[in-house]
Amino acid sequence: MSLLEVEGLDARYGDFQALFGVNLSVEESVTESIIGANGAGKSTLLKTIAGVLPPSAGDIRFDGKSLVGLPPNARLALGVSLVPEGRRIFPSLSVDENLIIGAHSGRKGPWTKERIYEAFPLLQPLAKRSGARLSGGEQQALAIGRALMSNPRLLLLDEVSLGLAPIVVKQVYAALPTIMEQGTTLLVVEQDVNQALAVATRFACLLEGRISLSGDAATANRDAVTDAYFGMSSVKKDH
Ligand code: ATP
Repeated sequence: MSLLEVEGLDARYGDFQALFGVNLSVEESVTESIIGANGAGKSTLLKTIAGVLPPSAGDIRFDGKSLVGLPPNARLALGVSLVPEGRRIFPSLSVDENLIIGAHSGRKGPWTKERIYEAFPLLQPLAKRSGARLSGGEQQALAIGRALMSNPRLLLLDEVSLGLAPIVVKQVYAALPTIMEQGTTLLVVEQDVNQALAVATRFACLLEGRISLSGDAATANRDAVTDAYFGMSSVKKDH
């Protein structure tokens, strides 16, 4: 049995359907990347798994139990934690306080403030700084650290690299192996195909709300991934 099983998932915003019959299985301790263009439905998929958006059809099972109908904090208590797009840290609270809040309604486990500061050395000197005075990369590190404080079994990471300079992306991604070593399962949403394939064992491409391709990241055919991403079979190589 996979840790996460998504079956026949539909999601809607009013009349607009964003996901169509999405199927996805993620084994425990595996990192899977969800790749797709703007508007493909990647954030919507993570939001339905985290319980922020109710699906209009289908099932989401975590460790064999359906999550459908459970509010986000109940999912957090089971070990499902979302780092949302846009980070959403608390600007008036310090880095330390943001981390402490992350432990609320979570599980017991290996992650403590001290461990987070070890995993993200860039946060260490900023413990007392307010969230409002952090750079984009520092906010992203804090958002991941805050989610880890709930000791998730499944960590959902939405667009980690969005708006960050490549060097900062590298710093943030450098913490991922430490997170994986804890046996945490990661579902990572990325627009950067190279980054997405480098970090993951498995990948799935979303195209207009449907899974268009999935497979092993190590043996992924770049042309096939590009086609599955853009939805055309004649994408020019020099594009
Ligand atoms: P992005 O990288 O732009 O976030 P994405 O793949 O994560 O892309 P989603 O954010 O899941 O895409 O959006 C999927 C579709 O649903 C898009 O067409 C988007 O316009 C639409 N959508 C997303 N959020 C809402 C909302 N709150 N209300 C209405 N439509 C929405």
